[in-house]
Amino acid sequence: MMFTIPFAIYGLFRYLQIVHIKELGGEPELLFGDKGMLANFALWGISVVIILILSTLLKYDLHVHSNILSMWNIRTEVIIKLAIKKGLNGIAITDHDTIKGGVECKKFETDSLKVIIGCELNTRQGEIIGLFLTEEIRSRDINEAIDEIHAQGGLVTVPHPFDKMRRSTLRHLSDHVGKIDAIEVFNARCILVDTIKRLRVCKEKNISATAGSDAHYANEIG
Ligand SMILES: [Zn+2]
Repeated sequence: MMFTIPFAIYGLFRYLQIVHIKELGGEPELLFGDKGMLANFALWGISVVIILILSTLLKYDLHVHSNILSMWNIRTEVIIKLAIKKGLNGIAITDHDTIKGGVECKKFETDSLKVIIGCELNTRQGEIIGLFLTEEIRSRDINEAIDEIHAQGGLVTVPHPFDKMRRSTLRHLSDHVGKIDAIEVFNARCILVDTIKRLRVCKEKNISATAGSDAHYANEIG
């Protein structure tokens, strides 16, 4: 992901250049003329700077499911190995309605890979995620559950809001904006339109954004 953004920008720029040159009646080879060459070098330079800046950021996947509930999900040891292999600094284990997977995974935490114990809780009003948990959440009422999470010193984020494909998605996000800590803006299983919508809400309401793979299978982590 982090390498694709600058290259995508670079690719778009080159495409626009070619179109422009063709409109002027020239040939695309003119790309390597003085101005084109300078612009290309500048873009490569900017790309390298962006990559360097991004590489200094901590990379956490805040939505991963383990095999505690289902044999089809990912084994704890495999999660840790894959997360390290993918260069992550941390992961949150957010199994459905339990912290057991997170507690188990926490045992394998290393200096380079932090494990956050979490839970994707299916409340009567829709799903929320609790992060940094120490105990199971008992209530299935969203307001009580949020209070329980906060009482443990945990954080509340809302997974995949506006996703119409999942019936479990929180239905009235705006009713809970004052109590939640973040919105899961990027979920790898969601479409781009919803991601943009979530990003807009975060900006408008001044709420933090999180990102997660929602991995249920090994190749989805990160
Ligand atoms: Zn999930």
